[in-house]
Amino acid sequence: MAEVIEMTNFIHDIIDKDLENEKYGDKVLTRFPPEPNGYLHIGHAKSICLNFMTAEKYHGGCNLRYDDTNPVKEDMEYVDSIEEDVRWLGFQWKERLWASDYFDEMYDCAVTLIKKGLAYVCDFSAEEIRANRGTLTEPGKESPYRNRSVEENMKLFEEMRDGKYEDGEKVLRAKIDMASPNINMRDPVIYRIAHASHHNTGDKWCIYPMYDFAHPIEDAIEGITHSICTLEFEDHRPLYDWVLQAVGKWPTPPQQIEFARLNITNTIMSKRYLKALVDDGVVEGWDDPRMPTIAGIRRRGYTPEAVRDFCERIGVAKANSTVDVALLESCVRDDLKTKVENRNVVENPIKVVITNYPEDQTEMMPIENNREVPEMGDRQVPFSNELWIDGDDFMEVPVKKYFRLFPGNEVRFKGAYFLTCTDVIKNEDGTIKELHCTYDPTTKSGTEGANRKVKGTIHWVDAKTAVKIRIRNYDYLMVEDENGEMDLNPDSLMESWGYAEPLLGEAKPGERFQFFRKGYYIADSVLNSAEDDGSETKVFNKIVGLKSSFKVKK
Ligand code: ATP
Ligand code: MG
Repeated sequence: MAEVIEMTNFIHDIIDKDLENEKYGDKVLTRFPPEPNGYLHIGHAKSICLNFMTAEKYHGGCNLRYDDTNPVKEDMEYVDSIEEDVRWLGFQWKERLWASDYFDEMYDCAVTLIKKGLAYVCDFSAEEIRANRGTLTEPGKESPYRNRSVEENMKLFEEMRDGKYEDGEKVLRAKIDMASPNINMRDPVIYRIAHASHHNTGDKWCIYPMYDFAHPIEDAIEGITHSICTLEFEDHRPLYDWVLQAVGKWPTPPQQIEFARLNITNTIMSKRYLKALVDDGVVEGWDDPRMPTIAGIRRRGYTPEAVRDFCERIGVAKANSTVDVALLESCVRDDLKTKVENRNVVENPIKVVITNYPEDQTEMMPIENNREVPEMGDRQVPFSNELWIDGDDFMEVPVKKYFRLFPGNEVRFKGAYFLTCTDVIKNEDGTIKELHCTYDPTTKSGTEGANRKVKGTIHWVDAKTAVKIRIRNYDYLMVEDENGEMDLNPDSLMESWGYAEPLLGEAKPGERFQFFRKGYYIADSVLNSAEDDGSETKVFNKIVGLKSSFKVKK
């Protein structure tokens, strides 16, 4: 697991002060509260890292709480995926909890407010409530039901609970201030009627608490000390505080702290949008490697360490901004650089025949697995008179500054010998059939002769032992059009195939490699692809390229 890097952020400054004043004693308890209505995405990863790492930093805990106060059908698939994702990121929750387990207590809190004269049943429709709410510049109008007696409110609220009314016929509202400059404080609805079954409580309830009422109570019941949420809840904080203060059960209520939500270029983070992509079949599923879901990122081959590193590098901000997706990619590259072994893979292969190399000979060439990490050792790679090279590594008529293979040119075949192209053999249709080359036996890799200077170095695959693989190259799922709007990229998936050294044929699902000179790839979880001829080939997904396109914004 990645070490916990010290991060300084304003949230920790707040916690430091609270610890100094012993506001919550020496306790720090945070929570991650997803609604189980979809798979988590990279934005959630930011929130997970923030909450769990903050807890780790202060030797506290972080609860995983399903925010299931809406009576929608629970989908166990989502619950399972959320837990898998949190664990994959390397975190363990203190407790796993369901907000719906607190419905009785929430109801009691509502009764407390009614009895204190701080909540009333209102017969307004949603439309009427909206019409009377006022605007940023004008105060709202008080509801004619605002001054009902405690007895009447109690009776009506119990009748709401007992199912006497239809959805929308009545609501319970907090009695705060219709003239408040903060619209959230203008007698917000705290309970509504919904005749709907709940996955946890079944048909026990036909009234359900609103988020702004439920959330602070959930936090307080669990003894959360710092309730970290995104910026759009900043204007809701006075209501959060009001609810807990008005109920009066908790002497030191939790502190809500807001931070800017994560936005990333070329990325849409909205469960609803991502669900539509899945439902419409635009992608293969929630774990399609192009998806910004944690499941997609995992299948793509990103590592949890890279995601955590990314979340730390971007820090915690108090203002919304958009992070370049290239920063995430460079975190992935930085992590893989010293972790994975190289393999030789060629695409658009061109056959090379070495005319002066014995036809029946195969040499095993030791090639380093990772230049940056000598301890990763060498592997033995077969070399014979027939090889494949990458289509990009040969030009019949070279452009300027092209140092790879072309007729008459000598290049280093990495880890083997120097080869010179002597002939280009064509098919009848004029395409290249094969290249004839000669090798210089005095230039074997690792010997004195290999120190001779040569301008180009290319890689190769022995044709007699090569394995065929499927390669899925990816581009961004979303691209920006000229108006800066995000659009689906029609070319986000490009399938190709290639030849690989034999060792790659033994790759297991989830194993990562650097395809030498090409980029980082992962053996897909769906390991084999059926070919037209009935054979099967291994599938590799491109994780990220070798070079960064990340530019610091000027
Ligand atoms: P979405 O809008 O994608 O559906 P959500 O906010 O509705 O996301 P929740 O399940 O309610 O999803 O979110 C759980 C937690 O994750 C919340 O505390 C929320 O603030 C946080 N979160 C969601 N998206 C982001 C983001 N882009 N950046 C940081 N935190 C986020
Ligand atoms: Mg939500």
